[in-house]
Amino acid sequence: MDTAAAALPLEAEHEALLQFLYVCPVGVAQLDGHGTVDMMNPLAIQLLMPVAPMGVVENLFDALAGIEPDLRHRAESFTEERGAICENHRIQLSNGSVRRGQRTDPLVVALTLLRIEPDRIMAVLVDVSKQVAQERLVRQHEAWLAAIFNGVKDFAIYSLSCAGEIETWNATGERLFGLPASEVVGRGIDVLHDQREPSWNPALEAARHDGWYLREGWCSRGDGERFWSNTLISAMKLEEGEISGFCVVTRDTNERKQSLDELRRLTTTDQLTGTLNRYAFFERAAAEEMRCRRHGEWMSAIMIDADHFKRVNDVHGHAVGDRVLKSLATVCQGELRGNDVIARLGGEEFAVLLPSTDPAQALRVAERLRAQIEALEIPLPGNEVPLRITASLGIAATGGGAEEVRKVEELLEMADQALYRAKHGGRNRVEAHRLEPAAL
Ligand code: GH3
Ligand code: MG
Ligand code: MG
Repeated sequence: MDTAAAALPLEAEHEALLQFLYVCPVGVAQLDGHGTVDMMNPLAIQLLMPVAPMGVVENLFDALAGIEPDLRHRAESFTEERGAICENHRIQLSNGSVRRGQRTDPLVVALTLLRIEPDRIMAVLVDVSKQVAQERLVRQHEAWLAAIFNGVKDFAIYSLSCAGEIETWNATGERLFGLPASEVVGRGIDVLHDQREPSWNPALEAARHDGWYLREGWCSRGDGERFWSNTLISAMKLEEGEISGFCVVTRDTNERKQSLDELRRLTTTDQLTGTLNRYAFFERAAAEEMRCRRHGEWMSAIMIDADHFKRVNDVHGHAVGDRVLKSLATVCQGELRGNDVIARLGGEEFAVLLPSTDPAQALRVAERLRAQIEALEIPLPGNEVPLRITASLGIAATGGGAEEVRKVEELLEMADQALYRAKHGGRNRVEAHRLEPAAL
């Protein structure tokens, strides 16, 4: 009776242990010293399915011999009475596959073999397929990034902290900016840009607000050289929507800018004289006209036409005529201020736009131009005395708050009428359009 009473809790305990093994989330097997399976829980059976052709594993070492031939030897040569023969030893039991676009990860288990008695080994099998797949993904991403960082030539890819300080700096940044990590990490993004550039803080604010921001501007290299660049700042958002920092890509677009600048120069300047061409003149003049309208300022125009120019060509040849036009343009450019605009409208005819200039000032400028042109000496081949020329000038003005602002075309027409009178009045002189005689 006593024995039966003692056996009952033992049996119950045994039953509980079996139940635990049954539902245990890891595979458990009990083996003898040579790998023969005494007991195996359902998860272990399931995990070992790929190496158990008939669904039954009689000997674990035999079953794994094709993948881990060394396992039997390790167990049999383990001399300690108790202890770990191997711990979390990773074994790939099946290959992954792709079926209908769905990828199945390879089945990988971590095997631990524990000798608990001289002739008894416990095997623990944990499914680590997901972890292995994650690790592979991380390694793949690292390889991708390394390929980008090492292969990309004219981009720099770097990151900023939430506060806008440079956080990670790599080969792409060093290559593009010529600056080592020690000089930039921990500093604000402004350190990469030309000191004359406006601060980048508003750009970061915009990226914080809209998710990204694109800006063009001058960057500066470690050696002080500057280059035109295109920078994309993207906010890196955590799942909760909080911004953890910024990913920045800066591209050197110097060459592109130079070729665009050159293209712009070619399309806006007159090839012979280097002044603006007709198209560019009207573009600039339209902007000035708006400014003049908005601020009620004066705006003046001067039309210049070389006198008897046909004769210059006829007597000295076209090449000399061209030289005269160049000299005339150069001397006028030298007399004008930075905001003034001179253009060759065609033939031997030039127009000058004088922003913020009233008629009296315009008259003075025109008179100066006339005198400079008259004083020009254009060298001729041989010992001939230098060629001298004159020009007639007509001026007109608008704005000044007194009347409605004229359109540029109209202003030039008015100046042209004044020029006509200068020609008829004997040439080599300045005439003003008669609408504003009081202002002169
Ligand atoms: P006016 O004093 O009345 O202005 O007489 P002009 O001879 O200057 O005027 P006209 O309009 O009769 O002749 C202008 C000349 O300018 C005719 C043309 O051969 C010359 N011309 C126009 N474009 C060029 C150019 O690009 N190069 C040269 N060398 N001559 C040019
Ligand atoms: Mg003419
Ligand atoms: Mg002429």
